[in-house]
Amino acid sequence: MRIAMISEHASPLAILGGEDAGGQNTHVAELSAALAAAGHEVRVYTRRDAVDLPVTVRSPDGYDVVHVPAGPAEPVAKDALLPHMKDFSTWLVHRWRGDDWAPEVIHAHFWMSGLAALAASHQTGVPVVQTYHALGTVKRRYQGVQDTSPARRVAYERELGRSVDRVVAQCQDEVGELVRMGVPRSRMTVIPSGVNLGTFAPLGPVADREPGRPRILTVGRLVERKGFQTVIRAMALVPDAECVVVGGPPAGLLETDPYARRLRALAGTCGVADRVRLVGAVPREEMGRWYRSADILVAAPWYEPFGLTPLEAMACGVPVIGTAVGGIKDTVVDGVTGDLVPARDPRALGTALQRLLDDRIRRFAYATAALERARRRYSWAATADRLAEVYDEVAAVHRPTRVVA
Ligand code: UDP
Repeated sequence: MRIAMISEHASPLAILGGEDAGGQNTHVAELSAALAAAGHEVRVYTRRDAVDLPVTVRSPDGYDVVHVPAGPAEPVAKDALLPHMKDFSTWLVHRWRGDDWAPEVIHAHFWMSGLAALAASHQTGVPVVQTYHALGTVKRRYQGVQDTSPARRVAYERELGRSVDRVVAQCQDEVGELVRMGVPRSRMTVIPSGVNLGTFAPLGPVADREPGRPRILTVGRLVERKGFQTVIRAMALVPDAECVVVGGPPAGLLETDPYARRLRALAGTCGVADRVRLVGAVPREEMGRWYRSADILVAAPWYEPFGLTPLEAMACGVPVIGTAVGGIKDTVVDGVTGDLVPARDPRALGTALQRLLDDRIRRFAYATAALERARRRYSWAATADRLAEVYDEVAAVHRPTRVVA
């Protein structure tokens, strides 16, 4: 099939770890690669955020990335992108009408991409599949006044859910949230993200570590809701271990990053500064080295729409201690592939960490079960297959205004 991915702020080619570059970028990159490997033609449309970007870049993984001129050709925070979505969709329609290539299905990632996709669909008849990646209701609940999302986000998300051809939820928790928002269950299919089982595997290069000192790894964009503060506080209860934090700006810029400074100050206050190490952003291809170097991966977010990092660790055969939120409740099987603890509870986390570090056999059992689960249930090839079925179904529905390439 000819598939258009729309990912307005999250380019599959971006360097990850920054404030707006994380799971969605990985998801779009891996999914597009898996669909291309299965023989589909995939074009990813993302906002042009630098002047020197060519319109189209061929990814080595067999799909095209098209840079859409919408808004200034410079980085713009994702919460400020809404006014540019109309230009984004106008450009798409123009392109698909004038080009020799038009999609049979549009898969929109994040709500603003959904708006651009739906507007383009109204003019071209191409069906739309929507993956939210994150929901405004959840963000507002946890971040309150700090949530800088556009005021109408939740209303747009509800409307999208009722208007697109299919909603793809990534976990059971998201289904519940969407139903409570007023999106009918019948419009949804649950298809989780996958994990790259080539990049993330138990064997391979390993990042250096201090012999004899257990390593607890935590990975993500350096934003408050990822719960790094909880992890640092928990370290006081795990006296012999070190905590490595991967993510954020490149290492050289950590000194000036306000949140990195806050984390370092907190580590000082908790008396664990000598055992907490911030590494900064690590390229995606090198993430496996870091997971493999860890005894335990901690994912301690306040909330998590899906959460790729637990799955990446599991695929490397690393046990996970996660907070019992969002997609982590589906990926981590409590007491089998890892442990689930309440969010924002350093004592519960610290206790679980020390218990697992003290129990080699349990760690081994978790690691084995985690690897098995990642391999059996979360390959990108399987995710791409299931999505291709959804694309087929929505494309088969007759649309009177369907565009002719
Ligand atoms: N990541 C990375 N380098 C970093 C930090 C993170 O490649 O320095 C990747 C990580 O491996 C994962 C993604 O960014 O694939 C984060 O996804 P997750 O779903 O955990 O969080 P999100 O960013 O979507 O909130």
